[in-house]
Amino acid sequence: MNKVQKRTKIVATLGPASINKITLTNMVALGVDVCRLNFSHGSQEDHLIAIKTIREISEENQVPIGILADLQGPKIRIGKMKEGGALLLNGKKVTITTKELIGDENNIYITYENFPNDVSSNEIILLDDGKIQLRVLSSNRLDTVECEVVHGGVLTSRKGVNLPNTKISIPSLTDEDIDNVNFALSYDVEWVAMSFVRTAADIIRLKDHIAGQNKKARIIAKIEKPEAIANIDEIIAVSDAIMVARGDLGVEMPMEEVPVLQKMIVKKCRDASKPVIIATQMLESMITTPRPTRAEINDVANSVLDGADAVMLSGETSVGEFPEIVIETMSKVITHVEKTSYPYFAEKKSSFDSETLISDHICASSVFLTQKTGAKAIAAMTSSGYTAFEISSHRPNADIYIFTSNPTLLNTLSVVWGVSGFYYDSFESTDNSIKDVNTILKEKGLLKTGELVVNTASIPIESKGKTNMIKVAIV
Ligand code: PGA
Ligand code: MN
Repeated sequence: MNKVQKRTKIVATLGPASINKITLTNMVALGVDVCRLNFSHGSQEDHLIAIKTIREISEENQVPIGILADLQGPKIRIGKMKEGGALLLNGKKVTITTKELIGDENNIYITYENFPNDVSSNEIILLDDGKIQLRVLSSNRLDTVECEVVHGGVLTSRKGVNLPNTKISIPSLTDEDIDNVNFALSYDVEWVAMSFVRTAADIIRLKDHIAGQNKKARIIAKIEKPEAIANIDEIIAVSDAIMVARGDLGVEMPMEEVPVLQKMIVKKCRDASKPVIIATQMLESMITTPRPTRAEINDVANSVLDGADAVMLSGETSVGEFPEIVIETMSKVITHVEKTSYPYFAEKKSSFDSETLISDHICASSVFLTQKTGAKAIAAMTSSGYTAFEISSHRPNADIYIFTSNPTLLNTLSVVWGVSGFYYDSFESTDNSIKDVNTILKEKGLLKTGELVVNTASIPIESKGKTNMIKVAIV
């Protein structure tokens, strides 16, 4: 497969619009690096078909593709509404109840048992992505909450509910999430995303669950609640990657804060060498039109300039009419920015963590050397992937080629900025391995005779320890 070459990765959500094998193969060639399975939609059977199709495409075309299982988390929804929905008028009263009924202008059913206990008077309730706003008047603390309509509109079945001011008592990993994560783990997905994360403890709970299943999937924390923003440093520290989930974040927080929060989170993630994904509504208008708005193009470009590892598509590729054109468009924006104005070698705060002190500085030095010598590429060997995350976080202008004997790691690294991974499993001596990987890169046409390459590895190579050596070679 002749895949588009770019550094910033694309995560595409799969759905009826993109699960066809030919369509998905084209999308991968056009730039998709990670496929997202959204467990808020579709059955496990649907997701299984997706997983099998992705693995087939990956194998047949010898191209790594990461799979990201995105768990719904404690997403609150209203129940069924009457035919055509109900028109809620400003200033009118409406009752929200935990007793199941078909909703209308006066009564709405909510699927969240503890709701009357968790809310307090004057708290805000947002319905349907914030389009409708209610204010709590009173609760009987049992099954009924009286509200006033602040901003009305037509409310239809199963719409989402956001409670920005309420401390919700639902756990971040629901029973349904556990069932879905077990399913996803049984097919060895590389990444699991947790929705509505509030604290580092939420992530640790999922981490323990995954370890308990003897699996190695890594965790993405979706930042979409004010509590996650308040605990952002602790959450980044325990997560493997972060998603700026702007859809819910822009409802739960004042939406004008989201652009600045995006920049703040990206910066913190790069400092911590954790991949960061920018998500939601990036090319939203392309769900129904083949040409995006200029503002959307700006948003993709600015997210790349901010330093995101990956940009994500949701409805655009899962249910939209033009999934292939969406990927082509996004790739064009990315490659243009990377060719003309990307902030390569951006400043980064060093961690000086004693355990990784040597390898961190070897990785930083490899990037420094490419800048000083004009080397075309960095070729690194890793078994944990640590070196790949670390080198990438410095955003070198040189290509990053990662060699590993761990085939799933190649899929895992699909989300990491600038990284291309290759399978390599001969570990006789450091000298031979360096010769080997440089020869492989030359054979693939990625390095030419006379070009410089920076190699990193660990000596002695057979013990597969941390990266501790660096070399500059002429091909
Ligand atoms: P969702 O998460 O699509 O699962 O809601 C992303 C977001 O909220 O932006
Ligand atoms: Mn969300």
